[in-house]
Amino acid sequence: MIPTIVVHGGAGRIADDQLDRARAGVGAAAAAAAIVLRAGGDAQRAVIAAVRTLEDDPTFNAGRGACMTRAGTFELDAGIMRSSDLRIGAVAAVPDLADPILLAEAVMERSDHNLIAGDGAVVFARKHGVGSFGREKLWTEKAQARWQLAKNGESSGQGQADTVGAVAIDVNGMLCAGCSTGGVLMKLPGRVGDSPLPGAGFYAAPALGASCATGRGEAIMTHVAAYEVLRRIADGEAPDAAAAGVCDRAAAGPSDTCGLIVIAPDGRIGVAHRSEHMSWAIVSGDLPVQAGIVRPRAP
Ligand code: ASP
Repeated sequence: MIPTIVVHGGAGRIADDQLDRARAGVGAAAAAAAIVLRAGGDAQRAVIAAVRTLEDDPTFNAGRGACMTRAGTFELDAGIMRSSDLRIGAVAAVPDLADPILLAEAVMERSDHNLIAGDGAVVFARKHGVGSFGREKLWTEKAQARWQLAKNGESSGQGQADTVGAVAIDVNGMLCAGCSTGGVLMKLPGRVGDSPLPGAGFYAAPALGASCATGRGEAIMTHVAAYEVLRRIADGEAPDAAAAGVCDRAAAGPSDTCGLIVIAPDGRIGVAHRSEHMSWAIVSGDLPVQAGIVRPRAP
């Protein structure tokens, strides 16, 4: 199998002054994952490398740069799944955590559970010595300014793109999917989106492939988007067409957005979004990084 990584930086609208940063950021994340894959690392390590790169990049709504709740606090969601044993790890509504994908991975590796939320996730993190906590590690001027505008009623806060995700296939055909987000700006404290929910925000299975969703989590959950795109591919649709079809359904509402990245078990790639932008990057084998901030619609 040709090792491949596909990364996204969120479906929605990217501000004009952030377009170059978003393109560069997803490119850097895909390049970090490609180094892992080329060195013989597995798909899980590649996904972690990509998502960690994006969590540390303040351009994105994950880790540093995450958006705030209505109360001005940070609550992070992340999830990961691998095809080799169908294990899942996820965390939801975790306060002030800069590297949620690592805690999600710890849930997968070191617990009998799939999803741990809120204060319980903090206790689990402390017990296992995982996770970098601290409001100052997440806070950015950009997120504060966006929150203030929304609080003042000067912006709806909706449709901002920056959640992150990655899917990978390694030389042995193992697949992995992972995503990380601050959720949606001005969410109610305790609100959990699709990103830590297997089937909705991410999925990976040997006969199906690996996928990650982004966009308004409420609609993505309704359409179980991450699983649905893989099911359509297994039924014979081409990956790009399957991703586009699921995005059309999940983004049918006036304020809904949806983006999907997918790798089929045979290595074919699908990338689609129904939103103004979705930064994306791909590295396959020894080819150079391809990256963009919109993806042309599949025919
Ligand atoms: N899906 C994320 C959520 O609803 C947000 C996003 O992808 O932009 O929490």
